[in-house]
Parts: sequence; structure tokens; C-alpha cells
Amino acid sequence: MKALFAASEIFPFAKTGGLADVAHALPRALSKQLEIISVMPLYGFMQSASLSRDELSFSVTLGSIEYDIALYTAENQGVKTYFIQAPLLSATQGLYGDENGEYANNDLRFGIFCAAIVELAAALQIDIVHLNDWHTALAALFIKERSLDIKSLFTIHNLAYQGIFEASSLQRLGIDSRYFHMDGIEFYGALNCMKAGIAYSDRVTTVSPRYAEEILTAEFGCGLEGFLQHHAAKLSGVLNGIDTEYFDPSSDTALASGFDAHNLDLKYCNKKALLKEAGLKDPRVPLFVMISRLAHQKGFDLLLEALKPMLKKRLNILILVEGVNHYRTALEKIAEKHGNLCLFFGYNEALSHRIYAGGDFLLMPSLFEPCGLNQMIAMRYGTVPVVHSVGGLFDTVHEDSETCGTGIVFLRPTKKALLNAVERALSLKSDVQKMEKTIRFNMACDFSFEKSAKAYIGLYRELQQGSLTIKDYNG
Ligand code: ADP
Repeated sequence: MKALFAASEIFPFAKTGGLADVAHALPRALSKQLEIISVMPLYGFMQSASLSRDELSFSVTLGSIEYDIALYTAENQGVKTYFIQAPLLSATQGLYGDENGEYANNDLRFGIFCAAIVELAAALQIDIVHLNDWHTALAALFIKERSLDIKSLFTIHNLAYQGIFEASSLQRLGIDSRYFHMDGIEFYGALNCMKAGIAYSDRVTTVSPRYAEEILTAEFGCGLEGFLQHHAAKLSGVLNGIDTEYFDPSSDTALASGFDAHNLDLKYCNKKALLKEAGLKDPRVPLFVMISRLAHQKGFDLLLEALKPMLKKRLNILILVEGVNHYRTALEKIAEKHGNLCLFFGYNEALSHRIYAGGDFLLMPSLFEPCGLNQMIAMRYGTVPVVHSVGGLFDTVHEDSETCGTGIVFLRPTKKALLNAVERALSLKSDVQKMEKTIRFNMACDFSFEKSAKAYIGLYRELQQGSLTIKDYNG
């Protein structure tokens, strides 16, 4: 069996969030058991000189325009990765947009990417194409349109981003209007790429079992709950993992001192170094950290509601966030008046590792969280998560339970519940033995991708064998 894993971002080549981590670590885990190749776009900011030019090249036609595709490759820790260089797609410096917002031609940029994925899959005689999020979703439709003997699996990493464009995109993308209806890619008169992935893939997964259930409801379905219910028989949740070799506190070169569960005093050294870097005082005071994007999803409205009363307690808060918006202004205003709040802005990989290692508690008040990687990374680094029990946070963090992992869990996204959770965290911290037991327990949990890889191989095999449920659903 030969599989092609397609994503719009793969670490370390391009990353804006968890998708890149997964698109790096999952194929790596899968490669131990089957032949797998990855593919992503070659963006303008990437240096093609550092990649190898592949002898394969082709063109794809969308609408009446032919686009020449050049292919580059690189080895990514045992997984061969193809880079699609194409007009429009590779012309931008950013992945999806710039300071003016999303690129206006993203429909065509990622439409070209999808057509190139399919062309590449055909050229490499791929059996299974694993597509991820809306940027790759049209590939499922293109495979069906061409009646290729390739099975497709579509993973939803975040239903909130669906790739919705005006109906006029259809013509530019050369998509036949027979697909433009309620049970296809039409969404209130517009084109919805995510719908293409759901409707035309042979199998659909989400990144946690809980999120697979949640997206069938109006609260989390982002308007697609009915559509997803219709396709529920081919939908399941496979919990993400993390790259436990990369996220390893004992060998992480970004840290002030490496540590493991047997020498937690060295974790304390990391805390002291981090506090110094942040200009925060007193390492004996509990340190709450947060590493995030300034998005509504991540619970910043809730955090801002609870932040002032939180800062009145004997604790320090350190936040690393990417994004420039009203949340940033509000956070800065509070930080001006509170010496126990430190803010770092921007995307900083090395600093994020130092924060995971130096924190006592990781705050994740997300309103929804398809899976969430932060809490798993935190637990691996001995930092106890404080989470709103939603999506993947529900599946990975448990309070008063022997299930991996453990942390502080609040059930409703309210100020009262969050403040209560912080109180429980403080009381855990004051019980030195219980705190250390929790840290050690979490550090011994297996958050690797091995389990997910096994589940995906099962799904790939089912697809290859053409099991009945799946055939039924694709008519
Ligand atoms: P999402 O994909 O919704 O942003 P995930 O929890 O799935 O959230 O993945 C987030 C990933 O991005 C983690 O690896 C986390 O450490 C990293 N990350 C998030 N924000 C930052 C930041 N400001 N600086 C560095 N890394 C970040």
C-alpha cells in the first residue's frame, strides 16, 4: 500500500498551528509501517535552493487555463516530501494571507494545489490519498471527477475554517455545476471547499473522538452539522499525538537544562531561568502559562473576564501569543497595571519550549478545541493543564482519574468555573507530594503518534479493501 499525505503546512518547512505538527509527526509514525510520501505547497518565502528539483513535472488545467507545476523534494526525517511550485500558489510570501487579510485568490491557489495533488498521486501510483482540511479538500472531488482508482481519506483539523468562496470561483476552478447543490459543494449560494472533502472522500476523520461527536451538533457544527450527520457513517475521530522525540524535555536543546521525571529539580531550574527571562519574581509562586493564537476559539474573552481577579491571587501568569487584534490591546492594558503578568507576542518556537518546561500550569480555556496539542506537550514537560473540557481536551485531560493524562478540568466556559479551576490548581500546587505525583504520572503518559498511526493504517486498509459501509456511502 502506498499513501500520499497532503497538507498546506508541514513542520519544519511551514507552520502556523497544530496542523503542521501533525502533518510532520503522523506520516513519520506511519512510515514505520507503510510507504508514505508527503506533499505541500512551495510558498514564496521558502528557499527552493535548499530543496532538490524533481525530474517529474506536469501541468494542471483549471477553467480554461493551464498552470505549469514544478516539483521539489526534501527528506523530512525519513519521509520524502514533495513541494508544489505553481503560479499564484507560490507567488505569495505568506501561506494564507498578509496584513490585509486572506489572499483574494486563495480559491485558485489551493485549487491548483488540489489538482496538483491528484496529478502527483496518479503519477506515483498512490493507493490512498490522505487529505487535511479545506486547502486539500477539492482533491477528493477531482479524484471522483476523473474516476481514478485512488481512495481518499479527509481529516478535519478545524471545522471553523471551511474555505468559502463566491459561486463565481466554480468557473475559475473548472468545476462542473452538477456538483453545486446542497448535497455537494454549495453552501448558501457560495462554494464551500470543506464540503467537497466531506462529500467526496471515502472516509472522514476528525482529530479527536469527542470533536467527531461535537461537530454533529449545532453548537460546534459551524453550520455543517446537518451535512455531517448525513455522512456520519463514514466519520470517526482519531486522537492526534505529538512528536515525542522532538518534544522531549530530556534532550530539548532550547531548554536551560534538560530534565526528566526523575530529576524535577531541573524543571525548577527551567522555571527560574524563564522567570528571569520574563522579568517575573519569586520562583516559589505558582506559574500559569499560555501558548496560543489570539483567536476567539482559544477562549480569550473568557480569560480577559477572569484575568484581573486571577492576578489578585498569589501567582504569576506568562502568555506567549501570536496575532494582533483587540485581545492584544486588552491584554497589554491589564499587564501595565499588574507586575505578575508577562506577555510575549509573536510566534516563537524556542521560547514556547522554554515556557512548556518552566510552567507549573498551562491554561487552555478554549471555547472549542478539535484536539489541541499544547496540553499534551505541556504534560510531557511536567506542566499540569487547566482546561475547559471540550473536544480533544475532554479526551486527553482528566481530573481525579487514573486515565492519562491528568489536570484541572472545568465543564462550562464561565468566569466562575475558570476561577474555581485556578483555585483547585493552587491547592494542588500547595500539596507538594500530590503535585509531583501528577507531574510524574503525566510525564509517563504515552502521547506519541503510534496509536493514531495504528488507527489510520486500519482505516487505510479498510479503504483499500473497499469495506461495505464505505462503498455504500459513496454510491
Ligand atoms: P491550533 O492548531 O489551533 O493553533 P494546536 O494546539 O493544535 O492549536 O497547536 C498549536 C501548536 O502551535 C503547538 O505546537 C503550540 O506549541 C504552537 N504554538 C501556538 N502558538 C504559538 C506561539 N505563539 N509561539 C510558538 N508556538 C506556538
